[in-house]
Amino acid sequence: MERTIFRAVIVGAGPAGLTAAYELSKQQATVAVLESDPEYVGGISRTVNYKGFHFDIGGHRFFSKSREVEDLWTEIAGADMLDRPRSSRIYYRGKFYTYPLKPFEALSKLGVIESVLCMLSFLAAKLHPVREPKTFEDWVSNQFGKRLFRIFFRTYTEKVWGMSCREISADWAAQRIKGLSLGSAIKHALLPKKKPKDRTQVVKTLIDTFRYPRRGPGMMWETCAEKVRGLGGSVMMGRKATGCRFDSARNLWIVTARNAKGEFEEYCGEHLISSMPIRELVAQIEPRLPETACEAARSLRYRDFLTVGLIVHDRGRFSDNWIYIHDPMVQVGRVQNYKSWSPEMVPDPNYCSYGLEYFCFEGDGLWTTSDAVLIELAKAEIQKVNLAASADVTDGCVIRQPKAYPVYDDAYQRHVETIRKALDAAYPTLHLVGRNGMHKYNNQDHAMMTAMLTAKNILAGERKYDVWAVNQDAEYHEAGAAGEQAAEVETRVPVKTPDGARTVKASY
Ligand SMILES: Cc1cc2nc3c(=O)[nH]c(=O)nc-3n(C[C@H](O)[C@H](O)[C@H](O)COP(=O)(O)OP(=O)(O)OC[C@H]3O[C@@H](n4cnc5c(N)ncnc54)[C@H](O)[C@@H]3O)c2cc1C
Repeated sequence: MERTIFRAVIVGAGPAGLTAAYELSKQQATVAVLESDPEYVGGISRTVNYKGFHFDIGGHRFFSKSREVEDLWTEIAGADMLDRPRSSRIYYRGKFYTYPLKPFEALSKLGVIESVLCMLSFLAAKLHPVREPKTFEDWVSNQFGKRLFRIFFRTYTEKVWGMSCREISADWAAQRIKGLSLGSAIKHALLPKKKPKDRTQVVKTLIDTFRYPRRGPGMMWETCAEKVRGLGGSVMMGRKATGCRFDSARNLWIVTARNAKGEFEEYCGEHLISSMPIRELVAQIEPRLPETACEAARSLRYRDFLTVGLIVHDRGRFSDNWIYIHDPMVQVGRVQNYKSWSPEMVPDPNYCSYGLEYFCFEGDGLWTTSDAVLIELAKAEIQKVNLAASADVTDGCVIRQPKAYPVYDDAYQRHVETIRKALDAAYPTLHLVGRNGMHKYNNQDHAMMTAMLTAKNILAGERKYDVWAVNQDAEYHEAGAAGEQAAEVETRVPVKTPDGARTVKASY
């Protein structure tokens, strides 16, 4: 039987894969999207439905400095997008502190003695900063003082990454908490709010409002998948790509996928767009890449993540979107309150649904703990941090997210570069997009922009755009002065500290 040849076979129905599929389908290019999940599209940006309660994997703010990305969200799901206020706090030793920190509130809650010590420690940091800070601890201590670092930064960061702040490079702090210092926090707290001239001037950490689909981020991607199907594209669930073979005689990609019944199917495309983790892709490619590239791919690492979803009688205890748990007495790192993201996340207004987030490595103690035990742990911890009484928890579920964070260690850039060069040389019709697809610890907007440019490249029949030049704000910088600027952002990431610190980025 003659097999269909798609213009592109796309692996993954997350934001990157579906954006590419949508952009291509709009131009009548045929696509087949293969998604390993049997039920959900959206990838890390999916929304899990448990008995009518909707759980977001982490809480996804829809905010981009890129006008094109914002417009695409509006085009896909504009009518379902809400404008939501942001409210988040830090829990530390029995007290809640507004986040981003409001200096006067923070100092008053810490008490007179601790506040004086914090101010002295801040002054000491200003008078005697660590010259050339190499570690996360040094960088943040320079900005806020050692005491505030210990209270408001250390515990959460160490929970997220599972390593000491002395092992983490200063670079992610410089990048992630960019534009934020005690000085800027005081200015933010005191001065009347001026609307930024344009969205590129916004400090992302400080944005007060964001967009959010009525029933969570998955709604955006379910609508997008429907639109792709409506345009004639195929989005196939429960199809895990297990092999990607390039047939050089016919210039075609043959992708093998295992379906939900365990049977193998083959899909044929002129182009292959991959949003699966680079480590998996390289292991699947045939003919194989040189051993140096295979070894580089095996060296890429990931941090994993699980959410314990709790359904709780609403006693009006808190209305924040999320709360960072800086307290070392509990393992939970962050608590999401989905009803505050959107009232439609719960089917009954008498209940709330919380997501207790635990950071872990696939296969470690937490990851392999049974769901029942994890739910009991979460019930005990939500009571310990005073956000709900265990007795008010009526039900729960566990959502595991492997490869939630591509790890930026001191060697990752070298490895990615090795793989990129090998792929570019051998396979011009293979396109890497998205977060794990490019090993880029970035948001949906970056994943989408890489997919939008890839679709343009395929439609143009040439690589007009270098997707690696898209920066973390989803802005595309061509070669030249702006290109150098993008490169500079990249090189700020992985610097090994003299005592062997690893470089990673964390999530705030
Ligand atoms: C805790 C957390 C909070 C976040 N918060 C935000 C936020 O507030 N705002 C924001 O914009 N972004 C946020 N993000 C980032 C966002 O989730 C990602 O940037 C986005 O989902 C990346 O899209 P993607 O398509 O590249 O990858 P993914 O979302 O990972 O999708 C990849 C898809 O490919 C599928 N797949 C993988 N391998 C195969 C295979 N072999 N065969 C078939 N299918 C396969 C997967 O099942 C998945 O569906 C957050 C992420 C995390 C972890």
